[in-house]
Amino acid sequence: MKRARQFLRRIGRPLLWEQLLYRRPMAVAEIRSFSRCHGAPAYPVCPRCEKTMEREYIAFCSRCGQKLDWENFQEARIVYVEPRVLEDPVTVR
Ligand SMILES: [Zn+2]
Repeated sequence: MKRARQFLRRIGRPLLWEQLLYRRPMAVAEIRSFSRCHGAPAYPVCPRCEKTMEREYIAFCSRCGQKLDWENFQEARIVYVEPRVLEDPVTVR
């Protein structure tokens, strides 16, 4: 992220910068496993918006449009999600 900010400062055109980054594939490196849920589903996580994606090996994230690189997906980190993590921390008092 630090490198990206330096790059942004150099070219000074945020819009172009954003477009270039979205088109450049980002590696999918995380899988969220909902092991406590029925059927223990696991979903790949978008490296940009960090939301889970419904399917694997899609070319672009359906939420933010980031181009995705699945080359090292077999070595992706598996994060086990506990049910309480799913609750919105803002609404929990
Ligand atoms: Zn995304």
